[in-house]
Amino acid sequence: MIERDADLSGANTLALPARAERLARPDSEAALAGALATRGAGEPLFVLGQGSNIVLDGDLPGLTLIPSLGGIDYREQGDDTARVTVGAGVVWDTLVADTVARGWRGLENLSLIPGTAGAAPFQNIGAYGVELADVLESVDTLAVADGRSVRFAAADCEFDYRDSLFKSRRRGEFIITGITLTLRRHGPCRVDYGGLAARFADADPASLDPAMVRQAVIEQRQSKLPDPAVLPNAGSFFKNPVVSVAHHHRLKADWPELVAFPHRDGMKLAAGWLIERAGWKGRRLGPVGMHRDQALVLVNHGGARAADVRALAAAVRADVRKRFAVDLEQEPVVLP
Ligand SMILES: Cc1cc2nc3c(=O)[nH]c(=O)nc-3n(C[C@H](O)[C@H](O)[C@H](O)COP(=O)(O)OP(=O)(O)OC[C@H]3O[C@@H](n4cnc5c(N)ncnc54)[C@H](O)[C@@H]3O)c2cc1C
Repeated sequence: MIERDADLSGANTLALPARAERLARPDSEAALAGALATRGAGEPLFVLGQGSNIVLDGDLPGLTLIPSLGGIDYREQGDDTARVTVGAGVVWDTLVADTVARGWRGLENLSLIPGTAGAAPFQNIGAYGVELADVLESVDTLAVADGRSVRFAAADCEFDYRDSLFKSRRRGEFIITGITLTLRRHGPCRVDYGGLAARFADADPASLDPAMVRQAVIEQRQSKLPDPAVLPNAGSFFKNPVVSVAHHHRLKADWPELVAFPHRDGMKLAAGWLIERAGWKGRRLGPVGMHRDQALVLVNHGGARAADVRALAAAVRADVRKRFAVDLEQEPVVLP
């Protein structure tokens, strides 16, 4: 069924007002192909999940699809591994909870990330030292041009930090219909990152199970990140920038407490730290602001429009550039 002039204000976690000219929520590959077939020549096409990583800058013309294919299918391979195939419309954290409850490890660090399984490869979601790419085997898609089914092996997805070929080089060419992951029964959990390292500093790694790690991740995320249902936001609004080693040295001389991590192209800086030091933590501009506890999260205090988001993002980027000579790149995708 195709809905006309559909309200999208509840379909994006920043709660920006927007409408879709035509909207469908296909729940099978056949329904998806059917919806695609209604598209007129040159008609714009947009694909959404739960709208937790987008900025809706006005109404979406043409056809908007929210792939709603369900299903979590486990195929155990011996005692130690399982291949899990998941429909694009499955809520990501429902999947994580299900795998952890069955004792499979691999997704526990990615607990409570909003959104759908289908969107997860788009920006190679990551948290607490783990990325989707670490456990992904393949991505099933439908090619927009001719409706063909195309499977991408993980190695061909051009995954990078919050990036993939679906987000960059071949953006708009494929609709993700499902993903397949490889999970393990045994082996160590990854707790060497950020708050998890402190939480489990005294624990024997062999005694940890994925349920314990999931619980710790949930507690830490709930204490740090604003819930979009209470304070609309799109998570981290900027990526952590990578600068050259020489640039890092210059900054470190002026700011000895600078937060940075080695990266293959230089040093990765903590964008939240830069934004805080540029004076934006907890500061508002009109109805939007940078969160008072998490400077990296742009929040809608009520009634914001895309122009308000744009103005704040530009002001933050300008101040960070002026103070640190660092360009911040926005993480959420702007549509249309
Ligand atoms: C509070 C909060 C915390 C967050 N924490 C994290 C975090 O820790 N780590 C992290 O990586 N991200 C995080 N995010 C960002 C977000 O959760 C992820 O990017 C998530 O994968 C987006 O899923 P979605 O279904 O909401 O996608 P949407 O926001 O609806 O879409 C995002 C992009 O993916 C494309 N897309 C969506 N579905 C498909 C599909 N089936 N086929 C093709 N393209 C598609 C869309 O066109 C769009 O460009 C956070 C967001 C919030 C609000």
